[in-house]
Amino acid sequence: MNKEETSKDLDYKTLLDRIYMSLPERTLSNSRFELPRAESMLQGKQTIWKNFSKVAKDLKRDEIQIYKFLMKEISTASAITNGTLVLNGIFNNYKINLILDKYIKNFVLCSACKKPDTDIISQNGVKVLKCSACGAITPLPKIWFWKDMIGKFHNSAAGNIFAACDKELLGSKVTFDGVEIHISKSFYGVDIITKEELITNINRADSVNIFGNKICSFLVSKKIITKDQIIIINNISHIQIYKI
Ligand SMILES: [Zn+2]
Repeated sequence: MNKEETSKDLDYKTLLDRIYMSLPERTLSNSRFELPRAESMLQGKQTIWKNFSKVAKDLKRDEIQIYKFLMKEISTASAITNGTLVLNGIFNNYKINLILDKYIKNFVLCSACKKPDTDIISQNGVKVLKCSACGAITPLPKIWFWKDMIGKFHNSAAGNIFAACDKELLGSKVTFDGVEIHISKSFYGVDIITKEELITNINRADSVNIFGNKICSFLVSKKIITKDQIIIINNISHIQIYKI
């Protein structure tokens, strides 16, 4: 072994020691992954998830991502303060842990070897789960969030118009039949709407104007519109409904 290799080995060993020292004890045992449990309690009409930030840290996941997932499962107002998550409404601990398990199954555990040694990485612009134990790469399930949808109701003597779009489209321009359409804040609004508001507003409007793949596929899944009604403009689903 020449000198160079020896020093390289040493460096590697030092590095490994450092890694092991900085790892939480649990990952060292390697064979068994203990699922972190949500500790929650009820306080009046609110539910307090006491160890929310700790769970996120244990899972090596972004709090906001877990938060968004939770919001998709139970749409309610909530806030993260000092490591706890306060949810409006009463959710028992069992339910919260069921949702947490669902999150872990989809966003933490490797689908091939079931180990939790994974990271979420971006691959060609798509977020995937990469396992450092077996190397498997799994596409993440497609989920999106109601917080990402906006809409505006326009009252007008000539008829009420409801406009809505996927949030990320705001401010963009699409061209259809040579006509440029601006997905503007003034028309589509800036306010986040819930799925209930979406459906209510569609029902009470005289005409509806919608842009966005997510919002349209939701409406198809709810049988509010059919696929044939969707017009694809620059790869974006668009729908107009007129009531007579
Ligand atoms: Zn794996």
